[in-house]
Amino acid sequence: MRPLTREEPGARQGPSRYDLSGDELAALLEGEPSYRLEQVRRALAAGLSPEEITVLPKCLRQRLAETPAMRPAFVVATESPTERGATVKWLLKATSDRARVEVVLMRYPARVTACVSSQAGCAMACSFCATGQMGFCRQLSSGEILEQVVRAARAARDKGWGRLSNVVFMGMGEPMANYGSVVSAVHRAHDDLSLAARAFTISTVGIVPGIRRLAAEPLQVNLAVSLHAANDDLRSSIVPINRRYPLFRLMAACLEYAERTRRRIFFEWALIAGTNDRGEDAAELARLLAPLGGLAHVNLIPLNPTPGFLARGSDRETVRAFRDRLASLGLNATIRDTRGRSVGGACGQLAGGAQLAGGAQLAGAAQLAASPKGA
Ligand code: SF4
Repeated sequence: MRPLTREEPGARQGPSRYDLSGDELAALLEGEPSYRLEQVRRALAAGLSPEEITVLPKCLRQRLAETPAMRPAFVVATESPTERGATVKWLLKATSDRARVEVVLMRYPARVTACVSSQAGCAMACSFCATGQMGFCRQLSSGEILEQVVRAARAARDKGWGRLSNVVFMGMGEPMANYGSVVSAVHRAHDDLSLAARAFTISTVGIVPGIRRLAAEPLQVNLAVSLHAANDDLRSSIVPINRRYPLFRLMAACLEYAERTRRRIFFEWALIAGTNDRGEDAAELARLLAPLGGLAHVNLIPLNPTPGFLARGSDRETVRAFRDRLASLGLNATIRDTRGRSVGGACGQLAGGAQLAGGAQLAGAAQLAASPKGA
């Protein structure tokens, strides 16, 4: 775990355009007719920059464009389309500091899913994850998270893919370690973009207080838990936070979440050849999740290798056999595709490949980018 910087979001330049509250936006429009506020709000939700809001008089557009608080939080550093044009990954560079985050947009036959980041870097240090190998940079504000969603939604429209339908917090960072900003961004995306809370999946590597907090939240989001191992020895070796929140505590929180919300929990399982892909591993997993009954669903995906973790992902045959074994034990499981792998963004660890100013390799997203709806 290697800290890069510990600055607060936007510390150098103040808030960016999606961090502004309604009152702050209204203050920027003081002296203008009242309907201008709604025009600007709608335009920002559509991903337009001040210069593009053509319903505004030119002088107002110009004034807003020159207002520091109306700056975007990010500029695009690189854009990597792949999967025959059905997936695109952006490496975004913060305008306030050197922080980098990744966003992936994936088009499927019946939906369009964005995978967004909740932090720049991550302090959780999961051994198989490129972001974990990179270390923590800083928290993202709710505005910075919302801007990723807005950018993805606009790109989906511009590409003719249709409306953004799902958002998964499986990019860089541990969402539960930035809980307030993540939940605030979900609320704002719901209000401003009319995205249903059910369209969101918040993942965690096992932050027990966060799961409990989410259970008490009147928010119908999906919960995904990056599990990867069903015994403490193995899990602690690949997911260090397991030493703080061992499986008995994690499963107690999951049970509480399921009982309280009656919603399914999605368990992500990155299959590592010879490590967690054997028949006995499936049996152990089935035993662990048995108390959840039909409210447990396992998402399987072969591990995407990263430079700092040289283990291999399981082959297709082994993945299928593992799924079948889980099914025979009464556990629902789905094999997720490795969408994004060719952009270095496969589930489990997007690998950006860009260099940070400090020389660290910018790696990407964290957990399995497989949404509950098969995204
Ligand atoms: S898997 Fe998720 S929680 Fe673990 S290091 Fe990667 S980004 Fe962080």
